Amino acid sequence: MGESIAHAADPNRALLDALARVAAMFPRPMPRVRDLALCVELARGVETVLHAAALGRGAIDIAVGERLDALSQGNLVLKLGSASVADYAREWLGLNASTAQKMSRFARKLRERPQLRAAVWAGEVSPRRAQAVMPVAIGDAEPYWVGRAKLDTVRSLKAQVNGGASQDPDEDEPWARFCVDLPPEVQPRVQKAMELAGEQLVANATRQQRFEAMCQEYYGAYGEPEDEGAAEAVAPPPTEAEIEPVKEWLEEQAQQWRFLSQLEPIAAPWTDPDARRDPSLLHDELRRLMSMRAGWDDVFGHMAMLFKKVKGWYFLGFASFEHYCEERLGMSLRAVQQRVRLEQRLYRLPSLRRALSQRRISYEKARLIARYADDAGVDGWIERAPRMSCIGLRRALEGHEDAKMCARGNFSLPMPLRIRALAAMAFRAARRQAGGHGSPGEWLGMIADHCIEVWEKASPRKNAAANSVRKRDLGLCQVPGCSRAGEHEHHVVFRSAGGGNGRSNKILLCATHHLQCIHKRWVRVTGEAPDKLRWQLGVRPGRPPLLDVLTMPDGSYLAARRDWPDSFPPPGVEVATTGRASEEASSLS
Ligand SMILES: [Zn+2]
Repeated sequence: MGESIAHAADPNRALLDALARVAAMFPRPMPRVRDLALCVELARGVETVLHAAALGRGAIDIAVGERLDALSQGNLVLKLGSASVADYAREWLGLNASTAQKMSRFARKLRERPQLRAAVWAGEVSPRRAQAVMPVAIGDAEPYWVGRAKLDTVRSLKAQVNGGASQDPDEDEPWARFCVDLPPEVQPRVQKAMELAGEQLVANATRQQRFEAMCQEYYGAYGEPEDEGAAEAVAPPPTEAEIEPVKEWLEEQAQQWRFLSQLEPIAAPWTDPDARRDPSLLHDELRRLMSMRAGWDDVFGHMAMLFKKVKGWYFLGFASFEHYCEERLGMSLRAVQQRVRLEQRLYRLPSLRRALSQRRISYEKARLIARYADDAGVDGWIERAPRMSCIGLRRALEGHEDAKMCARGNFSLPMPLRIRALAAMAFRAARRQAGGHGSPGEWLGMIADHCIEVWEKASPRKNAAANSVRKRDLGLCQVPGCSRAGEHEHHVVFRSAGGGNGRSNKILLCATHHLQCIHKRWVRVTGEAPDKLRWQLGVRPGRPPLLDVLTMPDGSYLAARRDWPDSFPPPGVEVATTGRASEEASSLS
């Protein structure tokens, strides 16, 4: 895309090709093996490839993180038309937004620790180990801790740094699914309360945040101190204390993973330091890094799934799969498990695998479709996905999921254990209010009724015209790929330029897009709201905008034609959904 930039190719390409060939030799399903010695042999084979793939992928992640960190400084990411690095990474790199934030934060911390950074970049210290020593590897103490991080295990580093009680702020909190059956009369009330919760919070609040607000509201009104204990009853936290001695014993025993073939560390791919202040160069570099990463990720996903399936960690003497992920892959258990789950789904949904491997949809879009779509609906979503922003796809899939949930008559939501514990407290309070009678579904109905009553009273009625634009735009920023709530109404044709005050000249924007991007002309919008708008994102001198699309009545985007004049719609052009999006619209994925 755009002018060519002299980039070094992936220096580890030959290794990746070799790994991909070996990975293809491991079939799925794996042959059933009973003999212990064979199991160990098999596990060792899978592990060798998995480990190398993790190192290669991890090395690229380091480089991606540093680029994202550079984009987050000043207003660089805004110049690309995104309100935040998280939105940018999701839409343009297909990276999960919170993963991208963690990668960028990690790079920022490394910036203040040059020696640790050098060791991580050289592949001598895994990100997990670097995280473990991060709090203490400062100033004069840095060389000592970098030395320790090269030799010691993650477990022992954590123990040395703060007596094992490490709570990494970037540590993912555990999630679990919360599920109750809903009687038919309760369903609309719960839906209504979830909608009102959005008005209480912000329009882009997740379903988990909305549910949390409902439970908080109810618990605030009816909870009693004795309910506090209910949290533990629902969510016994997995105890690290039980597994810790086993890990230590195994380490002392024979340093089990020593006999695994020793691979040279893989250095993060070099990037041009001069590119650091130019958002367009950073963007090109990031896209190039992500296309390199995809090859490693294919091998990694396949091998991680096999390794978990054959319980390789057990045969190679690790205390748990988590122990293995941290020590050997330098990754969190959750990150590996998430990748394994996607891989399993991809085997069940071959058309999704094809779309991903042909890069028709991004990794994050594939993950969303795999998570929400049922087997029958998958092809329809693959068809739509390239013409949608990633955040638009997620909202559409969640809406579809809500409808399915209603049809099934249950309320089912994955959520952090923290929210689940709060829900248990709110449900206990509701049960007490009902005199100990009723079902969980009915108690959820009581919680919903209470919230509707409180929030309908509290919610200020805005003037009718403002409300109608807000309602039409669902309270969300309308810039393609923006995840933020819409806070400002923007006149498409400025009032000063004679723009009218009618609905078709107004759209909702988040403050960042409105005050920064639109007014500094990094984002341009012309035409008529809601579905005859032309969006140009990342407008820059001398090169075409990063994205140039028209909004369609079905909420998707169509690539705009370069020869169209800036004012939109140009006379005589019929805006209609016609066929597939061109390359430009799919570059949004
Ligand atoms: Zn926005």
